[in-house]
Amino acid sequence: MSQPLDDPRAELEALAHATRRAARRAQALGRRAAPARKRTSAAAPAAVPARTAADVRAQAAAAGDLETLRACVARCEACGLAKTRTQTVFMDGKGSRRLMFVGEAPGADEDRLGVPFVGRAGQLLTDIIEKGIGIPRAEVTIANVLKCRPPDNREPTPAEKATCTPWLDRQIELVDPAVIVPLGRHAAMHVLGVEASMGAMRARVHAQGGRQIVPTYHPAYLLRSPGEKKECWKDIQLAMGVLGMPVPARADSAPPAEGR
Ligand code: URA
Repeated sequence: MSQPLDDPRAELEALAHATRRAARRAQALGRRAAPARKRTSAAAPAAVPARTAADVRAQAAAAGDLETLRACVARCEACGLAKTRTQTVFMDGKGSRRLMFVGEAPGADEDRLGVPFVGRAGQLLTDIIEKGIGIPRAEVTIANVLKCRPPDNREPTPAEKATCTPWLDRQIELVDPAVIVPLGRHAAMHVLGVEASMGAMRARVHAQGGRQIVPTYHPAYLLRSPGEKKECWKDIQLAMGVLGMPVPARADSAPPAEGR
């Protein structure tokens, strides 16, 4: 430690000099050493569960990336499905093809594994992607309207959809696909923002907010009505065309059969 000087002015100057030197040194050591500021703004999603629809909207809007959004979804308690789920089901795939599929809600297999479309309907979707479109499933993105399984695989209620869909809307913004293929009526109505029959929504490309929307039948419906696979395949070919992928010459060429 330095000794006190006889001359008080010199002592003061020495002190000021030492203080400036300490400040420069602290700056050189980097700002990371400074105490972290408390994050109180809306841009920092709180690590508390969303308990209301308003919480879901606020947390979804504040999530700046998919991992933050996934963590918010995993904590969500905004509707009764939080009590019956095993876990939330966020999404699968990297989306490098800018192609996103949106289903309805997780089923029993998805609830158990935490991954969308892994049951029988999921196998058919995988076949559509890998054998039909001809790309690895990992290159598209797959998500659902609801992030939790409705008990007994019942349909989502209007209240559940209204509460949950801000998660999906933010997910779509962050994934930023060029083409979305909603699977089934619930997904198509939400993505298009309309109330309509599947027949009125599918078999065409809807331009919306800079993205192309190509609704098609839900794979679970195709398992019950295999005769409609041809129609689904036509929709998928429309999506492929929008993405600039080569499509087979015959528009009615056969769709991939399940498990083939
Ligand atoms: N059906 C869906 O809509 N989503 C899934 O993840 C599985 C089945």
